[in-house]
Amino acid sequence: MVYDVIIIGGGPAGFTAALYSARANLKTLLLERMFSGGQMATTEVMENYPGFEDPINGIDLAMRMENQAKKFGAEVIYDEVMELELKEKIKTVTTRQTVYKTKSVILAMGGSSRRLGIDQENRLMGRGVSYCATCDGSFYRDMEVAVIGGGDTAVEDANYLSRMCKKVYLVHRRDSLRAVKSLQDEVFRNPKVEIIWDSVVEDIEGKDAVEALKLRNVRTGESSRINIEGVFVAIGINPNTKLVQGVVELSESGHIITDENMNTNIPRVMACGDIREKNLRQVVTAAADGAIAAYSAERQVDSCDC
Ligand code: NAP
Repeated sequence: MVYDVIIIGGGPAGFTAALYSARANLKTLLLERMFSGGQMATTEVMENYPGFEDPINGIDLAMRMENQAKKFGAEVIYDEVMELELKEKIKTVTTRQTVYKTKSVILAMGGSSRRLGIDQENRLMGRGVSYCATCDGSFYRDMEVAVIGGGDTAVEDANYLSRMCKKVYLVHRRDSLRAVKSLQDEVFRNPKVEIIWDSVVEDIEGKDAVEALKLRNVRTGESSRINIEGVFVAIGINPNTKLVQGVVELSESGHIITDENMNTNIPRVMACGDIREKNLRQVVTAAADGAIAAYSAERQVDSCDC
């Protein structure tokens, strides 16, 4: 059997693409390697997705998106894609379990948390080093923790962790935050969050679990140490483009380059969401990308001789 569209990735971009594609009567399959929602599923409360006056939990929104896409006939399979053959007329998607054929592919693999790149980080991962405050925060109830970064994720994480932890240090490498103003206002007002400006992590200390962070002030060169039991690294996202490297055109930052219709450089291969080169990475823009990608797939599948 040949699908009309195979979508890779079950975040807001992928599920919206699946919804639009299924509603356009295209034979649609969405493949997700882990759990539905992608990064959205690690967000405790979402206050900026339109239509939800009261904040909605990321997992709840993901489940709604998945169910909505399935309701219109999209097939969703939890399996990891290992290899893609995109250049042929009929494209091949090889997963851990099987091989699929399709007329078009929508790449919606999103991104993964960036690592600090210091020695102890890997060794202490899961033993005090975490990349997901909403997943692991409750293990640090009444303890002192640090969040690294100054973007939306880091500031949101600091605010979230302050609700259960004794104290939260927010360590940022500059003297101003990148996060949106509303999150900044909240963190500045938060008595349980102490911001350590102009500082980078030099070392994570601890034998069997995290015990302290060694920091260096980038302006003065001075080193300092804070005793903490958990460190949440929130320094950005790397696009998950390993599967398409050398095949699909990427930007300098490693994101997939598309036109405004989500087309990549390869016919009937679209990309949408955080994996794509663009300015604003939000759930609402990922969803919008997904709708456009499915529309492009529909038009190209209809007119191709494949
Ligand atoms: P981000 O916006 O790329 O911010 C990464 C932060 O980490 C920046 O403050 C950056 O510092 C810092 N950083 C980067 N590399 C570092 C390193 N090696 N050492 C120390 N600090 C480092 O990433 P994000 O916060 O994960 O957000 C990703 C995207 O998702 C953004 O587009 C964001 O708007 C979106 N998002 C939105 C929401 C929301 O709307 N509620 C929530 C979460 C994420 P500099 O500032 O100096 O570059």
